Amino acid sequence: MKIKIIPCLQDNYSYLIIDEVNNTACVIDPSEADPIIKYLENNQIKLKFILNTHHHYDHVGGNKKLKEKYGARVIGYKEDQERIPEIDILLSDQQTWMHENFEAKIIYIPGHTLGHICFYFYREESVFTGDTLFSLGCGRIFEGTYSQMFDSLMKLKKLPQNTKIYCGHEYTKKNSDFCLIHDANNENLITKIHDIDTKLRSGLPTIPSTIKDELECNIFLKSSNVETFSKLRDLKDNF
Ligand code: ZN
Ligand code: FE
Repeated sequence: MKIKIIPCLQDNYSYLIIDEVNNTACVIDPSEADPIIKYLENNQIKLKFILNTHHHYDHVGGNKKLKEKYGARVIGYKEDQERIPEIDILLSDQQTWMHENFEAKIIYIPGHTLGHICFYFYREESVFTGDTLFSLGCGRIFEGTYSQMFDSLMKLKKLPQNTKIYCGHEYTKKNSDFCLIHDANNENLITKIHDIDTKLRSGLPTIPSTIKDELECNIFLKSSNVETFSKLRDLKDNF
Protein backbone atom coordinates (compact mmCIF):
# COMPACT_ATOMS: atom_id res chain seq x y z
CA MET A 1 0.00 0.00 0.00
CA LYS A 2 1.19 3.44 -0.89
CA ILE A 3 0.17 6.73 0.73
CA LYS A 4 0.06 9.75 -1.55
CA ILE A 5 -0.24 13.28 -0.19
CA ILE A 6 -2.52 15.57 -2.24
CA PRO A 7 -2.34 19.28 -1.35
CA CYS A 8 -5.79 20.94 -1.54
CA LEU A 9 -7.21 24.45 -1.09
CA GLN A 10 -4.83 26.80 0.77
CA ASP A 11 -3.11 24.53 3.27
CA ASN A 12 -5.14 21.31 3.46
CA TYR A 13 -3.86 17.82 2.82
CA SER A 14 -5.98 15.01 1.48
CA TYR A 15 -4.48 11.55 1.35
CA LEU A 16 -4.85 8.62 -0.99
CA ILE A 17 -4.22 5.14 0.37
CA ILE A 18 -3.50 3.12 -2.73
CA ASP A 19 -3.76 -0.64 -3.06
CA GLU A 20 -1.21 -1.17 -5.81
CA VAL A 21 -2.27 -4.78 -6.38
CA ASN A 22 -5.88 -3.93 -7.25
CA ASN A 23 -5.29 -0.33 -8.47
CA THR A 24 -7.89 0.93 -6.02
CA ALA A 25 -7.76 3.68 -3.42
CA CYS A 26 -9.41 5.28 -0.42
CA VAL A 27 -9.24 9.02 -0.01
CA ILE A 28 -9.06 10.64 3.41
CA ASP A 29 -10.74 14.06 3.80
CA PRO A 30 -11.08 15.24 0.19
CA SER A 31 -11.26 19.02 0.60
CA GLU A 32 -12.03 19.31 -3.10
CA ALA A 33 -12.49 16.75 -5.86
CA ASP A 34 -10.36 18.02 -8.75
CA PRO A 35 -6.81 17.44 -7.44
CA ILE A 36 -7.88 13.92 -6.36
CA ILE A 37 -9.45 13.15 -9.74
CA LYS A 38 -6.36 14.41 -11.53
CA TYR A 39 -4.07 12.04 -9.65
CA LEU A 40 -6.44 9.07 -9.97
CA GLU A 41 -6.88 9.58 -13.70
CA ASN A 42 -3.16 10.08 -14.38
CA ASN A 43 -2.42 6.84 -12.56
CA GLN A 44 -5.49 4.85 -13.63
CA ILE A 45 -6.65 4.16 -10.11
CA LYS A 46 -10.26 3.58 -9.13
CA LEU A 47 -11.57 5.30 -6.01
CA LYS A 48 -13.52 2.93 -3.74
CA PHE A 49 -14.01 4.78 -0.46
CA ILE A 50 -14.13 8.33 0.89
CA LEU A 51 -13.14 8.51 4.56
CA ASN A 52 -13.98 11.63 6.58
CA THR A 53 -12.42 12.51 9.94
CA HIS A 54 -15.04 15.20 10.62
CA HIS A 55 -17.74 17.27 8.93
CA HIS A 56 -15.95 20.59 8.26
CA TYR A 57 -16.16 21.81 4.68
CA ASP A 58 -12.43 21.67 4.07
CA HIS A 59 -12.53 17.92 4.82
CA VAL A 60 -15.69 16.83 2.98
CA GLY A 61 -15.91 19.36 0.13
CA GLY A 62 -15.08 16.75 -2.53
CA ASN A 63 -17.43 14.01 -1.29
CA LYS A 64 -20.31 14.58 -3.68
CA LYS A 65 -18.33 14.94 -6.89
CA LEU A 66 -16.06 11.99 -6.12
CA LYS A 67 -18.99 9.78 -5.20
CA GLU A 68 -20.77 10.66 -8.42
CA LYS A 69 -17.72 10.04 -10.58
CA TYR A 70 -16.49 6.79 -9.05
CA GLY A 71 -19.45 5.39 -7.14
CA ALA A 72 -17.21 5.48 -4.09
CA ARG A 73 -18.84 5.00 -0.72
CA VAL A 74 -18.58 7.66 1.97
CA ILE A 75 -17.53 6.60 5.46
CA GLY A 76 -17.76 8.59 8.68
CA TYR A 77 -18.72 8.66 12.33
CA LYS A 78 -22.25 7.44 13.05
CA GLU A 79 -23.23 10.43 15.21
CA ASP A 80 -22.34 12.79 12.37
CA GLN A 81 -24.57 11.25 9.70
CA GLU A 82 -26.58 14.48 9.45
CA ARG A 83 -23.46 16.56 8.86
CA ILE A 84 -21.29 14.45 6.55
CA PRO A 85 -22.47 14.87 2.95
CA GLU A 86 -23.41 11.65 1.11
CA ILE A 87 -22.49 9.35 4.01
CA ASP A 88 -23.11 5.63 3.36
CA ILE A 89 -21.24 3.66 6.02
CA LEU A 90 -21.53 4.57 9.72
CA LEU A 91 -18.62 3.90 12.03
CA SER A 92 -18.37 3.48 15.81
CA ASP A 93 -15.53 4.10 18.24
CA GLN A 94 -13.00 1.24 18.41
CA GLN A 95 -14.51 -0.48 15.39
CA THR A 96 -12.22 -2.10 12.84
CA TRP A 97 -13.26 -1.21 9.32
CA MET A 98 -11.95 -3.39 6.52
CA HIS A 99 -12.48 -3.99 2.84
CA GLU A 100 -10.11 -6.08 0.72
CA ASN A 101 -6.64 -4.81 1.68
CA PHE A 102 -7.86 -1.67 3.45
CA GLU A 103 -7.95 -2.10 7.20
CA ALA A 104 -8.26 0.62 9.83
CA LYS A 105 -9.21 0.97 13.46
CA ILE A 106 -11.59 3.83 14.21
CA ILE A 107 -10.76 5.91 17.27
CA TYR A 108 -13.21 8.55 18.51
CA ILE A 109 -11.28 11.75 19.31
CA PRO A 110 -13.73 14.60 20.08
CA GLY A 111 -12.74 18.18 20.91
CA HIS A 112 -12.26 20.03 17.63
CA THR A 113 -15.78 18.81 16.79
CA LEU A 114 -18.02 16.42 18.71
CA GLY A 115 -17.97 13.88 15.88
CA HIS A 116 -14.24 13.74 15.15
CA ILE A 117 -12.60 10.37 14.53
CA CYS A 118 -9.21 9.20 13.32
CA PHE A 119 -8.37 6.30 11.03
CA TYR A 120 -5.54 4.15 12.34
CA PHE A 121 -4.23 2.04 9.45
CA TYR A 122 -2.20 -0.22 11.74
CA ARG A 123 -0.79 -2.39 8.95
CA GLU A 124 0.66 0.76 7.35
CA GLU A 125 1.69 2.06 10.81
CA SER A 126 -0.11 5.29 9.92
CA VAL A 127 -2.80 7.38 11.57
CA PHE A 128 -4.92 10.05 9.88
CA THR A 129 -5.68 12.62 12.55
CA GLY A 130 -7.70 15.31 10.71
CA ASP A 131 -7.82 18.51 12.76
CA THR A 132 -7.16 16.93 16.16
CA LEU A 133 -3.41 16.30 16.20
CA PHE A 134 -1.22 18.40 13.92
CA SER A 135 2.53 18.24 13.66
CA LEU A 136 3.69 20.34 16.64
CA GLY A 137 0.14 21.46 17.41
CA CYS A 138 -3.45 20.46 17.93
CA GLY A 139 -6.77 21.64 16.55
CA ARG A 140 -8.85 24.47 17.91
CA ILE A 141 -11.59 23.43 20.30
CA PHE A 142 -14.77 24.39 18.47
CA GLU A 143 -17.41 22.05 19.87
CA GLY A 144 -15.89 19.98 22.63
CA THR A 145 -14.32 20.75 26.00
CA TYR A 146 -10.66 21.16 26.92
CA SER A 147 -10.80 17.91 28.77
CA GLN A 148 -12.27 16.05 25.77
CA MET A 149 -9.48 17.35 23.55
CA PHE A 150 -6.86 16.49 26.17
CA ASP A 151 -8.24 12.94 26.46
CA SER A 152 -8.32 12.57 22.66
CA LEU A 153 -4.64 13.55 22.45
CA MET A 154 -3.92 11.04 25.25
CA LYS A 155 -5.43 8.28 23.09
CA LEU A 156 -3.17 9.24 20.19
CA LYS A 157 -0.12 9.36 22.49
CA LYS A 158 -0.61 5.68 23.26
CA LEU A 159 -0.12 4.56 19.64
CA PRO A 160 3.24 2.92 18.85
CA GLN A 161 6.00 5.52 18.63
CA ASN A 162 6.91 4.68 15.04
CA THR A 163 3.34 5.44 13.87
CA LYS A 164 3.33 8.02 11.07
CA ILE A 165 0.96 10.97 11.55
CA TYR A 166 -0.91 12.35 8.57
CA CYS A 167 -2.89 15.43 9.62
CA GLY A 168 -5.35 17.73 7.87
CA HIS A 169 -3.27 20.87 7.40
CA GLU A 170 0.22 22.20 6.74
CA TYR A 171 0.43 24.26 9.93
CA THR A 172 3.77 22.89 11.08
CA LYS A 173 5.96 25.99 10.73
CA LYS A 174 3.60 28.29 12.62
CA ASN A 175 3.12 25.58 15.26
CA SER A 176 6.88 25.23 15.65
CA ASP A 177 7.20 28.96 16.41
CA PHE A 178 4.74 28.52 19.27
CA CYS A 179 6.45 25.39 20.63
CA LEU A 180 9.82 27.12 20.57
CA ILE A 181 8.58 30.04 22.70
CA HIS A 182 7.45 27.66 25.44
CA ASP A 183 10.19 25.05 25.10
CA ALA A 184 13.25 26.98 23.92
CA ASN A 185 15.88 24.52 25.16
CA ASN A 186 14.37 21.39 23.63
CA GLU A 187 17.16 19.97 21.43
CA ASN A 188 14.79 17.53 19.72
CA LEU A 189 12.53 20.42 18.78
CA ILE A 190 15.42 22.45 17.39
CA THR A 191 16.53 19.48 15.28
CA LYS A 192 12.99 18.94 14.03
CA ILE A 193 12.66 22.61 13.07
CA HIS A 194 15.81 22.33 10.95
CA ASP A 195 14.24 19.38 9.19
CA ILE A 196 10.95 21.25 8.71
CA ASP A 197 12.73 24.27 7.23
CA THR A 198 14.66 22.08 4.80
CA LYS A 199 11.47 20.42 3.58
CA LEU A 200 9.55 23.68 3.20
CA ARG A 201 12.44 25.31 1.32
CA SER A 202 12.24 22.45 -1.17
CA GLY A 203 8.48 22.86 -1.50
CA LEU A 204 7.81 19.54 0.27
CA PRO A 205 5.18 18.74 2.91
CA THR A 206 6.41 18.47 6.50
CA ILE A 207 4.04 15.49 6.79
CA PRO A 208 4.16 12.73 7.93
CA SER A 209 5.44 13.31 11.43
CA THR A 210 5.65 10.43 13.92
CA ILE A 211 4.25 9.80 17.37
CA LYS A 212 7.85 9.71 18.66
CA ASP A 213 8.65 13.17 17.26
CA GLU A 214 5.42 14.61 18.59
CA LEU A 215 5.94 13.16 22.08
CA GLU A 216 9.36 14.80 22.13
CA CYS A 217 8.50 18.12 20.50
CA ASN A 218 4.76 18.94 20.57
CA ILE A 219 4.08 21.22 23.55
CA PHE A 220 0.44 20.10 23.68
CA LEU A 221 1.34 16.42 23.91
CA LYS A 222 3.97 17.27 26.51
CA SER A 223 1.35 18.85 28.80
CA SER A 224 0.94 16.51 31.75
CA ASN A 225 -2.47 17.75 32.86
CA VAL A 226 -5.55 19.40 31.45
CA GLU A 227 -4.87 22.73 33.24
CA THR A 228 -1.52 23.25 31.52
CA PHE A 229 -2.99 22.06 28.26
CA SER A 230 -5.93 24.50 28.48
CA LYS A 231 -3.63 27.47 29.18
CA LEU A 232 -1.47 26.62 26.17
CA ARG A 233 -4.53 26.14 23.96
CA ASP A 234 -5.82 29.61 24.96
CA LEU A 235 -2.42 31.19 24.27
CA LYS A 236 -2.25 29.48 20.88
CA ASP A 237 -5.72 30.73 19.93
CA ASN A 238 -4.34 34.27 20.13
CA PHE A 239 -0.88 33.53 18.75
ZN1 ZN B 1 -11.85 21.15 11.06
FE1 FE C 1 -9.60 21.69 8.66
